[in-house]
Amino acid sequence: MSLSANAIKVLEKRYLSKNENGQLLEDVNGMFHRVAKAVAGADASYASAAELQALETEFYEMMSGLEFLPNSPTLMNAGRPLGQLSACFVLPIEDTMEDIFETIKNAAMIHKSGGGTGFSFSRLRPKGAAVNSTGGVASGPISFMKVFNAATEAVKQGGTRRGANMGILRVDHPDIMDFITCKKDNADITNFNISVGITEEFMKAVEENKEYEIIDPHYKTAVGKLNAREVFDVIVDMAWSNGEPGIIFLDRLNQANVTPALGEFESTNPCGEQPLLPYEACNLGSINLSLMIKNTNQPEVDFERIGTVVKKAVHFLDNVIDVNKYPLPEIDQMTKSTRKIGLGVMGWADLLCQLHIPYNSQQALELAEQVMGFIQEQARKMSIELAERKGVFPQFENSSYQQQGIRVRNATTTTIAPTGTLSILAGVSSGIEPLFALSYIRNVMDNDELIETNPFFKQAAIKGQFYTDELMRIIAKKGTIKELAEIPEYLQAVFVTAHDISPEWHVKMQAAFQKYTDNAVSKTVNLSSKATREDVADVFNLAYQTGCKGVTIYRDGSRDSQVLNIGKVN
Ligand code: ADP
Repeated sequence: MSLSANAIKVLEKRYLSKNENGQLLEDVNGMFHRVAKAVAGADASYASAAELQALETEFYEMMSGLEFLPNSPTLMNAGRPLGQLSACFVLPIEDTMEDIFETIKNAAMIHKSGGGTGFSFSRLRPKGAAVNSTGGVASGPISFMKVFNAATEAVKQGGTRRGANMGILRVDHPDIMDFITCKKDNADITNFNISVGITEEFMKAVEENKEYEIIDPHYKTAVGKLNAREVFDVIVDMAWSNGEPGIIFLDRLNQANVTPALGEFESTNPCGEQPLLPYEACNLGSINLSLMIKNTNQPEVDFERIGTVVKKAVHFLDNVIDVNKYPLPEIDQMTKSTRKIGLGVMGWADLLCQLHIPYNSQQALELAEQVMGFIQEQARKMSIELAERKGVFPQFENSSYQQQGIRVRNATTTTIAPTGTLSILAGVSSGIEPLFALSYIRNVMDNDELIETNPFFKQAAIKGQFYTDELMRIIAKKGTIKELAEIPEYLQAVFVTAHDISPEWHVKMQAAFQKYTDNAVSKTVNLSSKATREDVADVFNLAYQTGCKGVTIYRDGSRDSQVLNIGKVN
């Protein structure tokens, strides 16, 4: 196992078991053993003692070898009293005072256990609407969102991490304009990512420059009309100036709902990659693609190894559902009825670097489809195998799989998470994002500067005989190797960083992975500080045209700090 000093620091601070005095009760190996044992335990009634031991060893080796890591709550809580193992939850908010505050309480319980929550505020009656029981007027979704925000602020998550929320409002809600601009001053809604729930009708109206209907959710009647393009332009303007709101294509999410009889998708989890029904939870895990290389003369993707890891990972994530201690009985029941899991990837950019394929190339898109297509196929195959041994998910009869005659154990198997912390632990590029930088300057004690260089770039620089500390320092300051005469052009193409890559390629890469992902894909489309509002509108339109389920943009320098600091430990 080769964990960096930084990874060990993160683990010691937040993941390893401690006693009341803060002394560590386990080391990193101990953590992987604890998790492997707890998760293998779900097979107790299906396997002999020897088989169970073998499974535990398999899980341990896959994690400690950094081939696969489950989401943070599983690493933190498996085999410990709290036992809450999922990263993603969606809770419903009905239009009554009791229900709103009940949901705040439930969200607090989830935050305490390290999970993130998504909510749709779309069922709440608009600001100013009548309240029958008191004769007063309703406060509206945005005002309640601030209460959720304050509750989140107050809950320090079980000593692990602060809460993260997703807030969604349908584009046809009467308060939509207030929602789109609600983070303008960023002061009250700091613990939320927000996204507008976009409908097909809206997108069509944008295209045709027409009006669309605004619906009162309480009375379910049309109460007015807005010009779609004007609304779209305000979303674009806010995203340009602030990075938010993002957009999610609600109708598209629901087209991919395999159990529509159980309800509709109204929201995703905080980072947008996991649409869930009300009270559903999902546990995620990621394969480290950076390691999935065959080192023959010409390095190539090791599909055999990926296949082996996918099988074990699906088994692992399916077991997590059974050993998980859910924060609410409704969540327990709902989650076990669909048995959703979300296997994804990290280290994609690292893999491309090792293969010398530029991120912004047709070849990279084709490989993305090939790799994710293979993972999706193998994951489903394993879910079918598990169904043969352990049974299909309980709501199978009510699902589209039943009509197709495919007997699976999990209603979904693939999701691409941001891997904010996991990628730090594994020391690889996060999710499917491009490299952010090739070289960093880290300030250490006594004002010493330490230069850290991406290992694959360093390797190439040494091999190409242009490595010097001085050059790495220049690259760290410049943030790119574009137009550095010392570096051969083909390497400049291979080692592209997020800001060298045009927004179109970011979207195309997201779409390539989405094509073979059951759930959704977490991705930030990075734009340079000079990007215009038209560039942002183009990104939104391209994401729509290429089949993405939503899109989030970030224009360099548009904000001082972010709600979820992806790539940093919160
Ligand atoms: P990790 O790398 O820690 O496993 P990710 O960055 O992949 O987590 O995020 C996956 C999901 O975990 C998010 O979409 C969200 O649902 C949840 N999550 C991430 N960060 C937080 C946080 N600080 N608090 C609560 N939930 C979080």
